[in-house]
Amino acid sequence: MSAIVPGQSVIGFIGIGTMGLPMALNVAKAGYELKVFDLSEKALAEAKAAGATPVASVAELARTSDVIITMLPDAPDVEKITLGQDGIESAARPGTLYVDMSTIDPGTSRRVAVRLAERGIRMIDSPVARGVENARAGTLALMIGGDKADVDEAMPLLRTMADTITYCGPLGNGVAMKLVNNFLSAGIVSTVAEACAIGLKAGLPLDMIVAISGATGTNNAWMHKLMPSKAFLGDFSPGFMTPLARKDQRLALAFAEDMGVPLTLGKAVFELLTQTAGVYPREDFTSILRVVGDGAGVKIRLPEA
Ligand code: NAD
Repeated sequence: MSAIVPGQSVIGFIGIGTMGLPMALNVAKAGYELKVFDLSEKALAEAKAAGATPVASVAELARTSDVIITMLPDAPDVEKITLGQDGIESAARPGTLYVDMSTIDPGTSRRVAVRLAERGIRMIDSPVARGVENARAGTLALMIGGDKADVDEAMPLLRTMADTITYCGPLGNGVAMKLVNNFLSAGIVSTVAEACAIGLKAGLPLDMIVAISGATGTNNAWMHKLMPSKAFLGDFSPGFMTPLARKDQRLALAFAEDMGVPLTLGKAVFELLTQTAGVYPREDFTSILRVVGDGAGVKIRLPEA
């Protein structure tokens, strides 16, 4: 096991979008040599302007990196980059550590890890919680699955991107934990939206609904901290765009079905996210408030908004 050391180790970062670029720049800031790849020319140009070194292909990046990180939208993207033609499986050196930070499903993670292991490439799954501001500040929360020795080896590198790191167990458990937590998020926001719509329609002001909830067992961070400073004021800028939230709900439903866990509420929340993504495809998933509010003929806004 070779240590991952700033000034010596080469880190290859694939997927430098909304989250990936600020994460990659924090890796470079900590002194690691950074190479980046993305399908988007615009993303590559932005990364170059910020001081990163773009490479021409996944294969080139994989051949020359000690650690490869991916931050891609969905499971098929990860499958393509790892197992596809000229992907990580065929190009990376045995002993390379692969860290997937995308939110995908545990089944894909485990399938990819088995294939990579046949070539001596080690993998950990380390999806991230929190948003782009935290990606910039290096204060993401990570949920990690994989061999504990590999996770320990990656820890100094991961700490350049995150301040809250939880080891969740064997490979796939990181993304399993992430899907569970995003399922909670989407469910809470949906329930808050519908409860507020009932209350507002009945003539109860939103600040009263929020205050009563805050003093009881229904107190929750979305309703009392996150939405009062943003969505309840009419700001739906992302944040976490609705199509990604919808993707995570889809992955959670499929994961639950595979394990034989019946979900009623989860399917209804997926429907609501699907409707919201249709109307507000480039905005934060708290746009659920607008879809529910429009259906009820109310505006889910605080009086000061
Ligand atoms: P994004 O769409 O902004 O970025 C993804 C990047 O991957 C894009 O630049 C895209 O061009 C690139 N890409 C796609 N396919 C590729 C391929 N085959 N080869 C090379 N590059 C490719 O997405 P994001 O918001 O940065 O999210 C990335 C992941 O992180 C998702 O799984 C998302 O669910 C998760 N996530 C996002 C947030 C958030 O707040 N945005 C928070 C936590 C987790």
